[in-house]
Amino acid sequence: MDKVNILIIGSGPAGYTAAIYASRASLSPVLYEGPEPGGQLTTTTMVENYPGFARGVDAFTLMNDMKAQAARFGADIRRGRIVSIDLSSRPFKAKTDGGVEIEAASVIIATGATAKYLGLPSETAFKGLGVSACATCDGFLYRKKDVAVVGGGDTACEEATYLANLCRKVYMIVRRDVFRASKAMQERVFSMPNIEILWNCNTREVLGDRSGVTGARLLRKDGEVFDIKVDGFFLAIGHHPNSELFKEWIATDENGYILTEGKTSRTNVPGVFAAGDVQDPSYRQAVTAAASGCRAALDAEKFLLENK
Ligand code: NDP
Repeated sequence: MDKVNILIIGSGPAGYTAAIYASRASLSPVLYEGPEPGGQLTTTTMVENYPGFARGVDAFTLMNDMKAQAARFGADIRRGRIVSIDLSSRPFKAKTDGGVEIEAASVIIATGATAKYLGLPSETAFKGLGVSACATCDGFLYRKKDVAVVGGGDTACEEATYLANLCRKVYMIVRRDVFRASKAMQERVFSMPNIEILWNCNTREVLGDRSGVTGARLLRKDGEVFDIKVDGFFLAIGHHPNSELFKEWIATDENGYILTEGKTSRTNVPGVFAAGDVQDPSYRQAVTAAASGCRAALDAEKFLLENK
């Protein structure tokens, strides 16, 4: 049985930042990286909007450096996943996929969110080669090119508007004849002359060759199958917050995002904190996740002091 002060679950910007702060406070945090070491950011290539990198930074380098920074101050960073956890009483009890049992005085949940994909084999084949679920991360690669955005919600409208300012043309592939997005977001889309909305359309296949995505084959509700030519194919059909493991104890909103108290990272269970995309349906940026990881470490430190 491993006894730890702070168990950090997840290795995106939120988890690593929490580990940096907790280890500098001599709290000897133990961090489990989870199924995707480095988090969602590692599905992209260059990160150009993380402050401090005037020429941008490769996503792997950024995440490896965050990890090395945490390790330098003594954070114990471990490969593996937490597969079960009991938050009913303190110390909290967790088990890893390697069979390690852990008792933790506090827990920081930084398990992130996962973008939803359509589930097409061709989409998987071109992930990172033109298929992306993050316009703010990858849009710049398609400057003055044609792209498609799938979805009709606020995210899709926001991403399409963002891309329309960079790209020559943006197709929106919407499966119904109406948007789900708010009126204000719809108005923004309608005001952009280079966005073409393809109503009642579903994607049958992402088309491409060795250079990456070259287009998409669509099926309209009336039965017509047609192709569009695009270099980038962006998914904006929602995200799943990775909160299932905790749902027996931790309060979430109707979409599964963990609820935190006011501006803190405190959940409804004293001693359990949440940071990053698992508790953030709105901003979902590396820098906002990192900031919330900092908050979680400071909140956990305060909790441990008060509950010695
Ligand atoms: P939503 O669930 O609101 O919208 C998802 C969209 O994707 C819908 O149009 C849906 O179609 C479509 N979709 C889902 N599955 C498929 C599929 N398999 N094939 C094709 N289309 C599909 O997700 P969002 O990420 O847009 O928004 C999540 C939450 O975040 C919302 O509450 C939103 O308001 C909020 N948000 C707010 C923003 C803001 O205020 N600035 C910005 C971004 C998000 P259908 O409508 O037919 O179900």
